[in-house]
Amino acid sequence: MCCNFMSRSGTSTVLAAVLLLAAATAGADSGWYRQDAAIMGTAIHVEVYHEDAALAQRAIAVVLDEMHHIDRVMSPFRPDSELSRVNREAALGPVPVSPELARLIERALQVSELTTGAFDITFASIGYLYDYRDGKRPDAQTVQQALPAIDYHHVHVDQAAATVAFASRGVRIDLGGIAKGYAVEQSALLLRGMGIRHAMISAGGDTRVIGDRHGRPWLVGIRHPRDEHGILTRMPVQDEAVSTSGDYERFFDEDGVRYHHIIDPATGDSARSALSVTILGPDTTMTDALSTSLFVLGPQRGIALIDRLPEYEAVVVDARGGLHYSSGLAPHQP
Ligand code: ADP
Ligand code: MG
Repeated sequence: MCCNFMSRSGTSTVLAAVLLLAAATAGADSGWYRQDAAIMGTAIHVEVYHEDAALAQRAIAVVLDEMHHIDRVMSPFRPDSELSRVNREAALGPVPVSPELARLIERALQVSELTTGAFDITFASIGYLYDYRDGKRPDAQTVQQALPAIDYHHVHVDQAAATVAFASRGVRIDLGGIAKGYAVEQSALLLRGMGIRHAMISAGGDTRVIGDRHGRPWLVGIRHPRDEHGILTRMPVQDEAVSTSGDYERFFDEDGVRYHHIIDPATGDSARSALSVTILGPDTTMTDALSTSLFVLGPQRGIALIDRLPEYEAVVVDARGGLHYSSGLAPHQP
């Protein structure tokens, strides 16, 4: 299990995004190498330990290359990405893609099945009409007209042929709820293959730690969703993936209503039954997709789902700031 204890600081009842807490490492840092970057539209942070400095630095470069590769294939913002080509052409017939993209889309469809459609990469059929930076959103009539295009059953993947087709016009897909976790997980695989036994990789809200740090677990803090300096829960983790989804990452407020980047596929509107969701488990691809999923499902249905997945745990902050823990964490609650 990931967590030996949980502690909640202060009297606050709200929490959110994962922060890696800077450990007191003065004088104990030799062999550790770090790098920050901005890739896939998000902040990347990599920390690697190895006695061989050249190997450690090569390992960091391999991770950043992998992230650039995934961005080139899957970015919705690059007209030349495979994903953009799929969105332009897949309603006309099967579009050849790399086996890697076909596999990740297939996994996304499996998560849709698991979450009864709360996770749905066709959310983008309406999602692309929102501009969080400029405070733009589609009107109610536009949403109603486009809503039938949100349905993962419209997406057909042929693994053997490595093609993707859409069953209907107006369908778009976006892997923003799973690709960063996938990139982190792939990076961890590459690091292990290079003999790295202690590392941390994070891409936005998706983090994976390999091994421990100076003989102790990594300490992950969960952020207050309405106070970026407030930390509400600390968890020791080792060989674990942690993903957080929050409504404070990309959003605008209008007439007291928050419009943000996680869309309920049932309505085409932002999901509003949670402020933040953190998932812990063995695979960052899954913790990423599940954090987005639970944000849509809300605390009751979300925790019920996680309690059916023995390897995964969740902390949900509901719309009123109340905390909900999956059963594997509940015994550790203060
Ligand atoms: P972040 O991108 O901030 O790390 P998340 O992991 O929570 O956050 O993913 C949010 C992203 O997931 C959105 O920016 C969007 O690309 C995508 N998304 C939004 N709603 C859904 C949904 N219902 N199903 C699948 N993906 C979604
Ligand atoms: Mg996610």
